[in-house]
Amino acid sequence: MRILAAGLCFAAMSAADSGVSFTGKTKYLNNARAAVTHTIDDSTKYVADCLDTMDKYGVKATVFVSTAEDPPPQERFFSQLQVKTLWPRLRQAVDNGHEMGAHGRMHRCGRPDNEAFCAGAYGDDEVIGSRDDILRRTQQPYVWTWCYPCGHCANHEFIQKRIAAAGYIVARNYPNEAQDGHIAPDLQTWDSNPFNAAYTQVVQKRGGAAKTERLDVDALNAKFDEVYQRRGIYNFLSHPQWLDYGADGFYERHLAHISRRPDVWYVPMGPLYAYKAIHESTQVSELSPGRFSVSNDLDRKIYNGSITLEFRAPAGMRVLSGGKPLAERRNQAADRWQEEYFRREGGVLYVTVPPNTTLEFRPARR
Ligand SMILES: [Zn+2]
Repeated sequence: MRILAAGLCFAAMSAADSGVSFTGKTKYLNNARAAVTHTIDDSTKYVADCLDTMDKYGVKATVFVSTAEDPPPQERFFSQLQVKTLWPRLRQAVDNGHEMGAHGRMHRCGRPDNEAFCAGAYGDDEVIGSRDDILRRTQQPYVWTWCYPCGHCANHEFIQKRIAAAGYIVARNYPNEAQDGHIAPDLQTWDSNPFNAAYTQVVQKRGGAAKTERLDVDALNAKFDEVYQRRGIYNFLSHPQWLDYGADGFYERHLAHISRRPDVWYVPMGPLYAYKAIHESTQVSELSPGRFSVSNDLDRKIYNGSITLEFRAPAGMRVLSGGKPLAERRNQAADRWQEEYFRREGGVLYVTVPPNTTLEFRPARR
């Protein structure tokens, strides 16, 4: 009994001496300075080339495919049958930290995108069917992100509600293509309406109803630099069928400029929006000196990512999550959203963990 009491007393004293204090949640994972997210649209054979190119640089994307495998001829959009041959490459992409997003089954778009058209085009077969195709065909546990085919119907609130009701947490738009409104919406953070969510700029040749293209690598890179300086989110969009591949092409030169930065978080769009919800909902409270509970009431099936917490802590601490020691990471780079580790920067520890755990800080054994 005496030994046990002495042991508890020693543990309490060590913790009290540890001088650890919680100082906040970081805006992006692992306290990155900025986030980069990429989206690519449509079921074409070029999706595989585009993924191969991205993987050379470590950029992570949301891949929006239309999932109908055998649409009637009058409904065919681009070479939609390609989706059959794409699935193995798409499953590999999920393993590599990309995300599959839904883009309908038939890629229904129509002008004008009035209420009558949208009511018919956004039936359960499109909105829920495409989600279920992705769940059936890939190992991805949830489908977070929708993309409006041709950008149509995104402005209708009743359509946004259908998207939300199907479980999506964000829906990307493509605003006003006929007047080139889609070229550079210039959004540099999370959209205040996630069901009509814009992006920063396109990187692609002229296509569809567009009048212009955006290939000037200096201009493309300057926009990224501006967002990076402002510690924002650089969210860029491409159609793989409207790119040139190869190291000398505009797409790869732009990827080379924005990639491999140790202080940037490379993340698909859905998990980036999920991080915002996790950030807003997670509570951290000190249970006893050196012990902190980390919790939120979000559905873990949807909000399955990690959060980064910032602590002041003296040198030589170990960090345990749920009783298990966390590995220390020396470099800052983050390109996955579900990992756990800690990282020291001077007197600060950045602890990255899935929420709903207890963190303990202990002096390292000498
Ligand atoms: Zn499309």
